Amino acid sequence: MGRRTKIVGPAGSYGPRYGVSVRKRVRDILIKKRGPHVCPFCGSVGTVYRVAVGIWACRKCGNVWTGAAYTPRSGLAPYFKKYIIKE
Ligand SMILES: [Zn+2]
Repeated sequence: MGRRTKIVGPAGSYGPRYGVSVRKRVRDILIKKRGPHVCPFCGSVGTVYRVAVGIWACRKCGNVWTGAAYTPRSGLAPYFKKYIIKE
């Protein structure tokens, strides 16, 4: 038998529903979302958590910022900085 959720990992909480290919995609997102993140303000690891979709906060320094839906920083972040400087 072994571990029940060997293939889909954290997406195993969905049970047999939604099909395996969808659960595999969800697994990749959940691993990214729940993994340890580095705070962009104080640099501490493991204190960052997601408040809601795209909203992230740090338990240590108390900062709240917008990021990607499943990660604290999106790949587009460098481009958004340019717009902030323009203002
Ligand atoms: Zn912090």
